[in-house]
Amino acid sequence: MSDVLVIGAGFAGLYSALMLARRGHAVTVLEKDPEAPPADGEACFTDWVRRGVAQARQPHILLNRAARVLQDETPAVLAAFADAGANLLTAGGERVAPDERDRLFFTCSRRLPLEAVLRRAVLAEPQVELRTGEEASGLVLLNGRVRGVLLRDHTEIRAELVVDCAGRWSRSRDWLMAEGVRLDPERRQDCDFFYLTQWRRRTNADFSWGGVPGRAESAFASFRCFPADGAVFAATMVLSMHDPLKAKCRKSAVFERVFGAIPGFQRWLEGSEPISELEVTARIENCWRSTLDEKRPAVSGFVLLGDSAMHTNPTLGRGVALALLQARQLADLLERHDAGSPDLVAEFETWRSDELSVWYLSQAAANARRSEEMRHTATGGETQEPVGEQARFAAAMAIAAAEDPYVAERALELFHLLATPAEVAADLRVRKAAQSVLERGVPLRPLTSGPGRTEFERMLE
Ligand SMILES: Cc1cc2nc3c(=O)[nH]c(=O)nc-3n(C[C@H](O)[C@H](O)[C@H](O)COP(=O)(O)OP(=O)(O)OC[C@H]3O[C@@H](n4cnc5c(N)ncnc54)[C@H](O)[C@@H]3O)c2cc1C
Repeated sequence: MSDVLVIGAGFAGLYSALMLARRGHAVTVLEKDPEAPPADGEACFTDWVRRGVAQARQPHILLNRAARVLQDETPAVLAAFADAGANLLTAGGERVAPDERDRLFFTCSRRLPLEAVLRRAVLAEPQVELRTGEEASGLVLLNGRVRGVLLRDHTEIRAELVVDCAGRWSRSRDWLMAEGVRLDPERRQDCDFFYLTQWRRRTNADFSWGGVPGRAESAFASFRCFPADGAVFAATMVLSMHDPLKAKCRKSAVFERVFGAIPGFQRWLEGSEPISELEVTARIENCWRSTLDEKRPAVSGFVLLGDSAMHTNPTLGRGVALALLQARQLADLLERHDAGSPDLVAEFETWRSDELSVWYLSQAAANARRSEEMRHTATGGETQEPVGEQARFAAAMAIAAAEDPYVAERALELFHLLATPAEVAADLRVRKAAQSVLERGVPLRPLTSGPGRTEFERMLE
């Protein structure tokens, strides 16, 4: 069994460590943030300092694909999430048990209490050593093989396999290139929008969650209510970076006024009180990275996993599910390959390309359309019809889903990463329903359940 070194103890690093330790590997995890999570979930949210994760206090809602990995591999972890207060909810807001297999559900919680649960599960594994307050600052490279990691004080830690789970701002590709390793360029696209979140706690006992997540769309902005753990939820506004009014929304009173004026959200706002200042997350992008050079592994003994390998704008909440899938895949491949074998890297990259690039590409395309629409309408432009076959089909399918439960079910599978866009588009019933929307000549504009621009501007005065 191999010695594996994991950089980063976010969801990707922790789940990789758990999967690998349970398959018999000895795992060391380096985490640059020094603090341990408090024992209490509430204190995790209020007191746990997580400078290494910019989005630590943004909503995290785990898709059913993530729950399926947990159910199959580590059911006790999903049960522990629920014990820690996570609400497991269907799209209709019904509560389900952690072993639910028939209905698709979201695991809803603030991020840090879940991370703390996962960290405890990892620390219970005798094969894992977690070294906190230790930052990787380079890789030890010998003859095209990564042999370990360099720490800030130049100490080396050797390992047969290094797994980079350092998140979106991972610098490992720079470290490799500085050593003369040639790598295919990364794909990168600015999202062009930012997140504003206020955490709130329900005060009325008879509240039902209703649609999960709560959604309202305007052409220039998206509004969401994400149930979290216990009685807590997040109200989140997504605005274009080009919106001339963006600074005004950063005042809590204005933010609450806008949310409270959206009909679907009135009951959420009225029956709750804020428990946080407004949290802002910007500098969001889509990015796909690999350790390939012209389709061949550029190094062995090293893989990128989780956000360091791919991340997309978080509107669709895919990051954790994709990270867990990658962690499981790596553990499976290590059953068949030596940790230092180039075949391990080649197969892992091939699998990522075959299975995961579809999620990157589809979201990057949708992001480009949505950010252009938000920018255009926030700066005085009129709402426009989507252009292009794919965009028109997606818009028609969204309208058909509101009319036809079968299409809604397939759309939900797509949302939970359980069916690909191509599989859903190839479904004859879905095609027919979308085609009929297109033939009816219904406007394919976004379903505008959020405020119009003039109303929005008035509320900011
Ligand atoms: C605003 C926002 C909202 C999101 N919402 C959702 C959601 O609803 N659902 C969902 O599934 N996903 C969501 N995501 C994505 C999700 O946060 C990530 O996909 C997920 O955390 C997996 O990340 P990771 O473990 O790869 O990286 P991270 O969680 O970023 O963890 C990286 C870890 O590495 C550590 N580290 C970094 N560099 C070093 C180093 N050199 N040495 C040692 N340690 C290091 C960091 O301190 C950190 O602990 C959201 C993202 C954003 C930005």
